[in-house]
Amino acid sequence: MRPSAALALVVASVCSGEAAGQGASRILLVSGAGPEERVAAAVLADSLRRSPRLAVFTSDDPAALSPVALARYDALVVDCDGAWWGDSVQRAVEAFVQQGKGLVAVRAGDCASGPEAGRRKYSALAGVHPAATALEKTGHGPLRVRWANPPHALAPTPGREFVTVDDPGPALVPSPASKVIATVDEQPVAWTGSFGAGRVFQTRQGRNLAARREPEFLGVFTRAVEWAATGKVPPSVPVPSKPSSSEARALVVTGGHNYDPSFYTLFEDQPGIVATIDPHPMPYRRSDLRKRYDTLVLYDSMQEANEVERKNLADFVESGKGVVILHHGLVDYSDWQWWWEEVMGARWLKVGGPGSKWKTTWKHDVEILAHPVGEHPVTAGVGPMRIWDETYKGMWLSPDIKVLMRTDEPTSDGPLVWLSPYRKSRVVIIELGHDRSAHLHPGYRRLVGNAIRWSAGKE
Ligand SMILES: [Zn+2]
Repeated sequence: MRPSAALALVVASVCSGEAAGQGASRILLVSGAGPEERVAAAVLADSLRRSPRLAVFTSDDPAALSPVALARYDALVVDCDGAWWGDSVQRAVEAFVQQGKGLVAVRAGDCASGPEAGRRKYSALAGVHPAATALEKTGHGPLRVRWANPPHALAPTPGREFVTVDDPGPALVPSPASKVIATVDEQPVAWTGSFGAGRVFQTRQGRNLAARREPEFLGVFTRAVEWAATGKVPPSVPVPSKPSSSEARALVVTGGHNYDPSFYTLFEDQPGIVATIDPHPMPYRRSDLRKRYDTLVLYDSMQEANEVERKNLADFVESGKGVVILHHGLVDYSDWQWWWEEVMGARWLKVGGPGSKWKTTWKHDVEILAHPVGEHPVTAGVGPMRIWDETYKGMWLSPDIKVLMRTDEPTSDGPLVWLSPYRKSRVVIIELGHDRSAHLHPGYRRLVGNAIRWSAGKE
C-alpha cells in the first residue's frame, strides 16, 4: 500500500524540519507508553541521532503501526514490552519487512509476540526459533559478552569479550539461517537474519538502563539499525563525543533500593555534566574510578562492599575527586567508620549491633519548607523551596558539617544539604530526593546539578 498524494505532501513538510542530512535513512523507534519504557527508548534514540545518516522518529503506540504509517520509514525499531500489538500490526510489519525494509527488535518478543499464533509468526519474522528456551541464569552480572568469531560484519573485534551490567533475561534461539553477532555463555544474544527482501537484527541486550548506555552495546546497535535500513554495513561506529575538560564526568551509582525512573531525568538538561549510571557494585569492580570520573553520585543504599570495592571507592575519595550523596545514599556503609564519620559526617543508627533494626526513622510524603543557609555555589540560584519528600530523623550528625540548607520540619533532623567534614575532596550531601516529586522539582534539579559541578571542581 502506498501513501496518498496528500499524505506524502504532509510527510514532506514534516521532514524538512529534521536535523539529519538529505538522503538520511528514516527510522521509526516504537516503545510502550510507560515512563520507564520511554526513558529506556530515549537512550536508543539519542544514540541513533548521533549518526548523520539517520533521521529518527519515535512513537509510543505500537498499535498505531499500519501500512500507511510504516511506508514513511526505512527501518522499524521495536522496543516495547507491553501487551501484544495485535494481528493487523503483525501483518503490517511483516509486509513492511518482506518488501525490503529493516526490522530491529530490542526486547521484542514481548509486545510483538502475543498468543501462540502470533508468537509463531513473530518467530519467523525475527529469525527466532519458535521453541525458545529460558536462559538458566539468575541474579545480576557480571555477564561477559563475546563478539562472534567467525566474525560478523557488524561486530567489533572477533572473539573479544566485555563485561556488562545487563540482566540475563530469557534466551531466544536464533533460527538456523541467522548470523550470530554476540554470545553470553555460548548462547546467542544478538544476530541478523532476513525476511523476504528485508533485513532483521535481533538483540537481547540492553535489558536495563545501565546496560543500554554501555558504548559496546550502543555502537553495535546503531550500526545494526543503519544496516537494517540500507543493507550496507556502515563504515564506522559513531562514537559518543568525548567530554571536554570543562565538563564534569559523573558516575551515578544505584542499587539496593527502589526508585522512580524519573531519577534518570535528573541528569538531562544539566549543562556541563556528562553522567554515566552504573549499579552497585559493578563500578567498583570494573576499573580504577579515578581515571574515568570527576565525581561520584551515590544513590545506592548498600551495607556490603568487599575489600577491593572499598579500596577503589576510598582511593577515589582520597584522590581529591568529588562525591555527591543523595537521599538513601546516606544509609550506605553504616558499619564503615571512616565512611560515615569522615566522608559523610552522618550515620544511620541502629537499635543494637549489626543486623538489628534502624533507630533512625523516616517519614514519607512530608511537605518540607527548605531554606538555604548562607551562600554557596551548591545553593546558587536556589531560594527557599517547598517540596514533598521523605524526612530522616535521629541520625548521628558530625559537629563539623557545614549546613547549606535546612528545615524546621519536626520529623527531620534539620540539615537537608551539607558539606562533610572531609577536607581532601569536595563531598556534598543532599538528603532530599526520595521520588519523582523531588526528581522533577526545579529547585532540587538545580541543587543536584550545582553539587555535581562544584564537587567536580568545575564551578
Ligand atoms: Zn526514600
